[in-house]
Amino acid sequence: MSNKVIKVILLGDSAVGKSKLVERFMIDGFREQQQSTFAVNIFPYKAKIDGEDCDVEFWDTAGQERFNNVHPSYYDRAHACIFVFDDRQITYKNLEKWYNELQTYRKGIPSIVICNKIDLNMEATKTTFNFASKRELPLYYASAADGTNVVKAFTDALKLAKKCRDNPEKEFVDDVLELLN
Ligand code: GDP
Ligand code: MG
Repeated sequence: MSNKVIKVILLGDSAVGKSKLVERFMIDGFREQQQSTFAVNIFPYKAKIDGEDCDVEFWDTAGQERFNNVHPSYYDRAHACIFVFDDRQITYKNLEKWYNELQTYRKGIPSIVICNKIDLNMEATKTTFNFASKRELPLYYASAADGTNVVKAFTDALKLAKKCRDNPEKEFVDDVLELLN
């Protein structure tokens, strides 16, 4: 991976829709799948972010999260993280665990949260989720199935990721707050 490539990772329990979200976002984009030795799917993507042509890689697990066993290389040099949960309470609860995992390997990178599968449960959109609000993380109610908010969430994540790549030592609170407002 070149130093210029923007790396975005997805974290969350098995079957919350991480792969489906990437697939949905990539539909109109350049698409090519590449298997690495760590059983990770890497999706290269060309994006125009804040007016600049950027090479992006979305990193998606190949199911190891089922065994709580995501390889440290997954986190290595990531520029942003997309946390995903769905209508199963346990997947929300486990965000804490994924968050701690991220802090262990890649502390402080900008992150967003996706509450996925709102097509199954519209009620979720009326809920404020503490996990996101107490950390001031942007929260998106989305559906990989019908596409609701997927582009919005990923586009915002890419903006944050680019800032992280360009200013690796910076704290991202201000940029996140800007997105929230
Ligand atoms: P992952 O393990 O987190 O990568 O989850 P997948 O992307 O493999 O999705 C798990 C299952 O949930 C699959 O059967 C998907 O079709 C389904 N799924 C994913 N996103 C949505 C969604 O937004 N709505 C609904 N109804 N099903 C979804
Ligand atoms: Mg998957």
